[in-house]
Amino acid sequence: MLRITAEIKAVSELSSKLSFVAARRDGRLASLLAGLLLALTPLMAAAEDAAPYIYVLGIAQDGGYPQTNCYQPHCMRAWKDPAHKRLTSSIAIIDHQRGTKYLFDATPDMREQLYQLHIEAPDTSHVLDGVFLTHGHMGHYTGLMHFGREAVGAKSIRVFAMPRMQQFLSNNGPWDQLVGLGNIKLAPMRNGVPVKLSDDVSVLPLAVPHRDEYTETVGFRINGPNKSALFIPDIDKWSKWDTDIRDLVRQVDYALLDATFFADGELGDRDMGEIPHPFVAETMDLFADFAEEDRARIIFIHFNHSNPLLIEGSAAQQEVEARGFRYATEGLRLPL
Ligand SMILES: [Zn+2]
Ligand SMILES: [Zn+2]
Ligand SMILES: [Zn+2]
Repeated sequence: MLRITAEIKAVSELSSKLSFVAARRDGRLASLLAGLLLALTPLMAAAEDAAPYIYVLGIAQDGGYPQTNCYQPHCMRAWKDPAHKRLTSSIAIIDHQRGTKYLFDATPDMREQLYQLHIEAPDTSHVLDGVFLTHGHMGHYTGLMHFGREAVGAKSIRVFAMPRMQQFLSNNGPWDQLVGLGNIKLAPMRNGVPVKLSDDVSVLPLAVPHRDEYTETVGFRINGPNKSALFIPDIDKWSKWDTDIRDLVRQVDYALLDATFFADGELGDRDMGEIPHPFVAETMDLFADFAEEDRARIIFIHFNHSNPLLIEGSAAQQEVEARGFRYATEGLRLPL
């Protein structure tokens, strides 16, 4: 299929050159070639449709939605009606042509998420070729437990981890047992060094400032054949990062960004300074002067149970849309 895509592109380039030359000599030849081009267009579109894509498997913050012990109205609606439940933030890359799939973060909901991934990209035809971890907070790695002896008893699942994360998993139970028994095989990542998944898909870890009690924290830049994406589910504040998020967003097609809290004061009495994140309201202000098409690249994700972006039709969702931004939903597909 890839070869076919390349050939279609070559033929199409050649025919447009030929038609330019021919147009001045022979009108009929030019229109014939123009017709050929038209006929090729749907084929080219189909090739793009077959490109690898990002598949959103979860949108909630580490604790999921509804959250343990929360019986306030915003969570009660989901306790009472499971249709409102949302899984912890995670995405996958699916490549149907190569029969591969990759998971980003192993969440406490990984059991459910691997099933959703199987429905979209069946295990009979797609190999889980790797799991990329952002950091050592509960919502981002504890799902690895399902690969262990008590459950899957997996064999050598590649887990891409930064140096401190590798140390953490290798030297602390129960995770060291997964390493020792070979359920998972740690694959090193370095800040700013791309991991190549195939000829046209690579994943670049980017270190970000966060509460790094046990491990460092990274986001990812994913480069595909046609499009690219950022996935930064956790960061303290944009201003604490030595990279300008505005520059980075300009360089990609999709930016899945930390939207833990919608606005200051959301947690009542709890001091939000202890758990810093960029508020959605702050991020929208930071990008307010971007052109409409650039604002639309930003897709909010990783919502705390208190974040009204979890509630369909909320004023918060309407405000995000009105200001030209987007919010992630489970099952969202983003072609690369
Ligand atoms: Zn998190
Ligand atoms: Zn709640
Ligand atoms: Zn975190």
